Amino acid sequence: MNNHADCIFCQIVRGEAPSFSLCQDEQALAFMDIFPVAPGHVLVITREHFENIFEASDDSLRAVAAMSKRLAQAIRTQLAPEGLGVFQLNGAAAGQTVFHYHQHLIPRSGGDSLQLHSRVRGNDGELVALSRKLAAAL
Ligand code: 5GP
Ligand code: ZN
Repeated sequence: MNNHADCIFCQIVRGEAPSFSLCQDEQALAFMDIFPVAPGHVLVITREHFENIFEASDDSLRAVAAMSKRLAQAIRTQLAPEGLGVFQLNGAAAGQTVFHYHQHLIPRSGGDSLQLHSRVRGNDGELVALSRKLAAAL
């Protein structure tokens, strides 16, 4: 199920790689993106390894959508961004870089570029503070 040894998100699911965790249930989990495009950039992933939307089960997609909504409300309560982007990429040609199904939640302000990725790793102290702040509103 999560035995894709080389998949970083499977390693996070198994607890073998660290993450700034937010919440989890039987089919989905959420944590901070460590290369945030904006403060509060969150990833919601399927617990099971599916490469993309074409492979993912309907139940897993529903679980990710429901968890994304809870996280969206927590982001709105705690960070009050002007807007919130929810997006999901399928295939390298679409910009997908981790081939385990996930959805991005990105707080946005008017005038932001439509940047989907950052090369700058987030500061650990800021990531842990944001994860606690968001988790407190779940
Ligand atoms: P994709 O391009 O596949 O839609 O997005 C993959 C996301 O995963 C990127 O935003 C990237 O910053 C994030 N990412 C890559 N490796 C790690 C990691 O080890 N931990 C976390 N939390 N996020 C990661
Ligand atoms: Zn995986």
